[in-house]
Amino acid sequence: MEQITVKASQSSYKVSVGAGIRHRLADFLPKTYQNVFIVSDTRIAPHYLDDYIASLLPNAKVTKKIIEPGEAAKSKEMYFDILDSMFEAQLDRKSLVLALGGGVIGDLAGFVASTYMRGIDFIQLPTTILAHDSSVGGKVAINHETGKNLIGSFYPPVAVVYDVDTITTLPEKEVRSGYAELIKEAYIGDGAFLDQLFAREKLDKGNQDQLIKDLSSGIKVKTKIVEADEKENDMRKFLNLGHTLGHAIEAEAGYGTFTHGEAVAIGMLFALELSEKRFGANLLLDEFQSWLERNQYPLYLPDLSAARLVTRMQMDKKSENKEVHMVLLREIGQPVTEKVDHDTLFDAVTSFLERMSRT
Ligand code: ADP
Ligand code: ZN
Repeated sequence: MEQITVKASQSSYKVSVGAGIRHRLADFLPKTYQNVFIVSDTRIAPHYLDDYIASLLPNAKVTKKIIEPGEAAKSKEMYFDILDSMFEAQLDRKSLVLALGGGVIGDLAGFVASTYMRGIDFIQLPTTILAHDSSVGGKVAINHETGKNLIGSFYPPVAVVYDVDTITTLPEKEVRSGYAELIKEAYIGDGAFLDQLFAREKLDKGNQDQLIKDLSSGIKVKTKIVEADEKENDMRKFLNLGHTLGHAIEAEAGYGTFTHGEAVAIGMLFALELSEKRFGANLLLDEFQSWLERNQYPLYLPDLSAARLVTRMQMDKKSENKEVHMVLLREIGQPVTEKVDHDTLFDAVTSFLERMSRT
């Protein structure tokens, strides 16, 4: 098992990553709770919910809220629906919310916990690889029709208990999605971790020791950044590597065509190419490309318009006055934010798309 402590301004919490630790949840609780409310979805709950509940104190009152899977759950309606259920379950300020699932469940349950009676304790129990990212740093939110994650707060959990056993049932596509963010963290802050990832033949969700190592390496990079910059001013922007084009591709291809991480992987290829051109660094692009191919990342982009992608990149919340600010790398481990003017960006996206539309 690995444990990483994350220091937030108001409190600090431990992220525990291990195999089988769902059977001893009580060991990781900062205190005892009489009334516990657990949120999960119908794909995850049948596998892991009972184990987690069984490992709580026997006399605790437990209420389950099992919802349909998918991003649509991060809605205003679901938010109020869960609040209603929490009042019905008579949770008080000393109660606990458990979020058993990936980013959707963590964001939703975390946001509900942050506003129920002005905030009650919550614990993340991640079940996806991607959730190593969302469960650290304290950002919780639901969506508004205008955009994703627009209603939210900074609200750190009191603990994160990450049982890598749960990854065995995660679909391959989701494994790829999560590993893209791990590669991102390696590029931003841990060259040795990057070498390790590239040295492997293939992703292997059944190798627990490897998962524990990979997840905790990614979490350490993320922790360092959020500790230095809790509220998203400077450093935290670096976590956006690959996301400027990635978000544009996700939206332009239609949500669901690519998973978040798959789109970010493509966005990273683009950002790294641009970085090599601008700074003359060697960013192991061939190794990265080959790793993506070995692991069946979708790298074929037919029918996307460069003009539309650039327009979306200009609307990115990190951009200012239509000027696109992208995270680039001077070297592995040395991220910088750079302005990229319209013509340079348009030309780069055009030739990138051209290359990515050949199989
Ligand atoms: P993230 O944002 O962390 O990638 P999501 O919350 O979007 O994760 O979950 C992705 C999908 O995978 C959802 O359909 C969810 O129900 C499913 N899922 C999450 N964890 C598991 C798991 N351990 N086993 C099987 N399916 C899972
Ligand atoms: Zn991301």
